[in-house]
Amino acid sequence: MREYVTMMSHSREEQFRSALLEWAEGNLRDFAWRDTDRSLYEVFVAEFFLTQTPARNVAEVYPEFLERFPDLRAIDSATKEEIVAVIEPLGFYNMRSEALKSIAAEMSELSEAVEELTELPRVGHYIANATLCFSRGHRLPILDRNIERVYSRVFGADWPETRSDQIAFAERLLPTDDPRTYNLALLDFAAAICQPSPLCEQCFANDYCEYYES
Ligand code: SF4
Repeated sequence: MREYVTMMSHSREEQFRSALLEWAEGNLRDFAWRDTDRSLYEVFVAEFFLTQTPARNVAEVYPEFLERFPDLRAIDSATKEEIVAVIEPLGFYNMRSEALKSIAAEMSELSEAVEELTELPRVGHYIANATLCFSRGHRLPILDRNIERVYSRVFGADWPETRSDQIAFAERLLPTDDPRTYNLALLDFAAAICQPSPLCEQCFANDYCEYYES
């Protein structure tokens, strides 16, 4: 019986993965930081700003920020006030400018190792994984409150309780060939369909989603 339940669960994971990738075709949002030729630094800057900040606000300051501070050396050379002048509309500008100055003082090039990125000030696993996945295509899971909402709704009782098990679950769902598109699709699906007030009637998962069935 247990084996049967596990097989069913894996089949639902595969169903969700392939449906999400199909949904991604034509539904992904177009943001400047998603251009595939963006550097590690440029993607990092976007992910650093997107934490607790709506994408539309980040989109307003992103081009000017990259023009004024095209790399960590430029941040290191700038004063905190010069950085604040650009990022003030984002909020948390003191904390963000101080963290960026500390990062730039520590290194002139960002590391491609998750462990090293997560040691930087104000950089957690979400930012590190998103940066490496979106800029380098690394197969790393991203889990924020929105994605947790999607997974916990779709998989219900199968969605694990502990953080380490949730990460393992999210890792298992990542496709091997295109984790970047999958993670982008998760973000956009959470924003467009599986919102806090979900649009279940429009959702590809509504015939196996536990939340919808309950
Ligand atoms: S059916 Fe509703 S709750 Fe379930 S994944 Fe779709 S939008 Fe979210």
